[in-house]
Amino acid sequence: MTAIDRPIPVHAPLSQFPVRDGELVVGGMPLSQLAARVGQTPFYAYDRAQLRNRVAELRTALPASVKLHYAMKANPMPAVVGLMAGLVDGIDVASAGELKVALDAGADPQEVSFAGPGKRESELRQAVASGVLVNLESMREVHLLAQISQDLGLAARVAVRVNPDFELKGSGMKMGGGPKQFGVDVEQMPELLAAIGAAGLAFEGFHLFAGSQNLRPESICEAQQKSYALAVRLADSAPQPVRFLNLGGGFGIPYFPGEQRIDLQPIGDNLAALAERAKTELPQAAFVIELGRYLVGEAGVYVASVLDRKVSRGQVFLVTDGGLHHHLSASGNFGQVIRKNYPVAIGNRMGALDTEPASVVGPLCTPLDLLGDRMVLPRAEEGDLVVVFQSGAYGASASPQGFLGHPACVEVLV
Ligand SMILES: *Cc1c(COP(=O)(O)O)cnc(C)c1O
Repeated sequence: MTAIDRPIPVHAPLSQFPVRDGELVVGGMPLSQLAARVGQTPFYAYDRAQLRNRVAELRTALPASVKLHYAMKANPMPAVVGLMAGLVDGIDVASAGELKVALDAGADPQEVSFAGPGKRESELRQAVASGVLVNLESMREVHLLAQISQDLGLAARVAVRVNPDFELKGSGMKMGGGPKQFGVDVEQMPELLAAIGAAGLAFEGFHLFAGSQNLRPESICEAQQKSYALAVRLADSAPQPVRFLNLGGGFGIPYFPGEQRIDLQPIGDNLAALAERAKTELPQAAFVIELGRYLVGEAGVYVASVLDRKVSRGQVFLVTDGGLHHHLSASGNFGQVIRKNYPVAIGNRMGALDTEPASVVGPLCTPLDLLGDRMVLPRAEEGDLVVVFQSGAYGASASPQGFLGHPACVEVLV
């Protein structure tokens, strides 16, 4: 087959948002009406029904005994965290700031866990006083937690985040295996576990997180199997029985042409098999899966207005009021190696036949401010609404809003 015969990769179909009378419908409302309701562009809109559907799909595919946690760094908007707190079994936080949002949202502290390298002493104190589980990541944290437990008269609840001796194949971002700032190397575990026992901390189990944005179920299953086997091995030197085993997550969503949604079935089957083995090997352990992007990413859109339509040497540029200062990921500057286009549409001209290649750019004085590079879009004019899909995760909170002094975006849960 020559390069010419190969099918051109396209974006996975974005059927999660209906279209009515040529307008994208988000949160049950045509996009132009929603823009009027919000009162400005640019904005992010997150669709409640889709967040609920996604959790329901996971509940169907995964064994009932597996707890589902929301890693709120993917989308920390308080209203989103509030909704998710009522849908999932627990919230994973990575700072005291996130801890506050989770607790304000009504999350049960028993089911909140706090991970992250470099936790400040004040953050650890807040975590112990809150009664949440600390995923500890160094010997320093053991010593600090011992002191804090004594001061407060409360034994810190801890799990150990392990930096495993394997990697999650095919991940967008690797967060375990090899030298890492995350977790404690397997080789150092005997010493660390002994120190936890000696310090009288309330040991509950292990946390393994191998990586993020993975679209290959077989890689995810393999990482879960290896994580499970490692936990069984480490349980022998643990000061107390393992009651909590966080096997990570890393489920990806399709962003770029050629990518497809992951099939949950093999992952569910794999977890069911591991849960069966755990009945004898780790009889007190509850499995946890922590997901961020997979839970919220597809439920969100970013919407900006076309301010200007420019043609430069034959190439069309739609200059919008939104850009990388609100949506760094879509511009390709948040961990991507090669810049590729997120799915983009003109939300008030859905299905229009009059198409042309156009680049969608923002108002910032930098060529990095590119939301869509030469995409085939309906011919758009000033005032039209550009939609960037797959924008529910790592959007507003993961973007440099202060860069260049343009107005902030607004977020709504609809
Ligand atoms: C970022 C992170 C997550 C969430 O990752 P997603 O790719 O958004 O699912 C989960 N756990 C830990 C420890 C993380 O750092």
